[in-house]
Amino acid sequence: MFRHNSSSSMKYVLVTGGVISGIGKGIIASSIGTILRSHGFRVTSIKIDPYINIDAGTFSPYEHGEVFVLDDGGEVDLDLGNYERFLDVTLHRDNNITTGKIYQYVIDKERRGDYLGKTVQVVPHITDAIQEWVERVAHISVDEDKAEPDICIIELGGTIGDIESMSFVEAFRQFQFRVKKENFCLVHVSLVPQPNSTNEHKTKPTQHSVKELRGYGLTPDLIICRSATPMPLSAKEKVSMFCQVDKDHVICIPDVKTLFRVPLLMDENGVFHFLSSRLHLIPKSNYDQSLMIKWRDLAERMERQLEEVIIALVGKYTALEDAYASVLKALTHAALFCNRKLKVLFIHATDLEANTQKDDPVKYHEAWQQLCSAHGVLVPGGFGSRGIEGKIAAIEWARTQSKPFLGICLGLQCAVIEFARHVLQYKDANSSEFDKCEHQVVIEMPEHNPGIMGATMRLGRRTTHFVTDDSIVRKLYGDMDSIDERHRHRYEVNPKYIEVFEKAGMKFVGRSDDNERMEILELENHPYFVGVQYHPEYISRPLKPSAPYLGLIWAACGELKNVLTHVTKQQSPTDITIKSPSPFSHANLFRHT
Ligand code: GLN
Repeated sequence: MFRHNSSSSMKYVLVTGGVISGIGKGIIASSIGTILRSHGFRVTSIKIDPYINIDAGTFSPYEHGEVFVLDDGGEVDLDLGNYERFLDVTLHRDNNITTGKIYQYVIDKERRGDYLGKTVQVVPHITDAIQEWVERVAHISVDEDKAEPDICIIELGGTIGDIESMSFVEAFRQFQFRVKKENFCLVHVSLVPQPNSTNEHKTKPTQHSVKELRGYGLTPDLIICRSATPMPLSAKEKVSMFCQVDKDHVICIPDVKTLFRVPLLMDENGVFHFLSSRLHLIPKSNYDQSLMIKWRDLAERMERQLEEVIIALVGKYTALEDAYASVLKALTHAALFCNRKLKVLFIHATDLEANTQKDDPVKYHEAWQQLCSAHGVLVPGGFGSRGIEGKIAAIEWARTQSKPFLGICLGLQCAVIEFARHVLQYKDANSSEFDKCEHQVVIEMPEHNPGIMGATMRLGRRTTHFVTDDSIVRKLYGDMDSIDERHRHRYEVNPKYIEVFEKAGMKFVGRSDDNERMEILELENHPYFVGVQYHPEYISRPLKPSAPYLGLIWAACGELKNVLTHVTKQQSPTDITIKSPSPFSHANLFRHT
């Protein structure tokens, strides 16, 4: 790690949370970034998770929600996904700091003897390491053109007062002096509850959390109050008086119908004006309000949609929506593009299985009834054998009933098993992850990761080459020769069966660099039956929906065929999908033709 010159003009916005977690601190921090970007500033972000895990790789989706994967293969907290989507940037694994990472770094240094025999302590060694990490990562480019960011937004996970975040709080107390006052500001996001008895906005918990923050030597510059309904002026004045913050610097963000409203609301409350004067921002010449206009358009379209598109999500972690956070976002982005209101039916894969039919026939029939009512079926990624047979049954139904289907990672693998069992008649076919049977159509294919011994997962950005011209997915990607997407898997389609699969109509239209790894499958004579070994949801953006998801939604709306004929007539097909700077004009074009 190197130390940056403190006179550098990098600006830092620290976002802390008060009262309880889970009040949308990440969305507020991302929205601050969106506003700054709309004013032409380059924004990066750092998410601090004060837990001891080194990264999110070992998390159970039940407990923490989805594991988000970055281009560089970093397995990180799902909040990083919000930053990438809101800021339209590409973050790196170091943009997620955990207590585990900081301690590992300091302990490695100690073992090397770098501390020259000194006693290694939380203050100053851990707190110094945190500050150095933040300064180093803030300067790393997150934009395609590799330019350095101007502003770094740092979100401190958890709430002020948590024992595990103490070293970070102390690090930032020191940091504000290290980088100077005009380069550092603090936004505190706090809950203002409205108890049912009076429905009044209660500011006491916020007052307490600010008091605590001040006790640690940090002073909020802006207080964002999260509440169910808009706060009256009197409540804002109370926060202002007791927390010693100007009343214009107390902002209320009530619950909103769509998250796209949050940056707009904050913009209307003068957040940019505040940051600009507090951080002495020098206005950018490329200031372009069109970004905010696009967000307004997104919010309005989202609130206006009436016609539904129903997607059945057949998975394992259906009890916790966060387990499929990026999948749901990608479906939302695609549905929005197609002017449809998305309705997702979460179906627990085991409910579709024969065992449930025996043990709980009502549950079984309800699950099948839900599946049959959907316009399209999505089988997401996952690990372990539970629910596999249910997923295979859902896929068989989609295949034989010509229902649009998208299989992601494990979903692709299940589609391969289903096809092998019911079309190729390999009755025992399975993945070696679940069964060491004779026909292992999905097998473990480790990838050589230089320098990382023991890393068995294929993680991060890899290239897929299209091997045929007449692929639907290829057209959806704008007829590119190759595409880059993010991966997180160990198992893959067994190359030894490819020929027989292809002869029977299951085509592997996208493959890895060495032609050995099957990345995209498509079924002949089906409106949309697609499997992808990668996770396209990780790079879906509100303004740039993901191609395979867009295909699913278009097919579910019965419009895909029509759309694809237009793609070829457009002459410049890359304009139409993810490459388009303003896809909505094209979406509208399609709807009116
Ligand atoms: N369990 C499968 C594998 O490891 C699928 C992983 C996934 O869906 N992310 O390959």
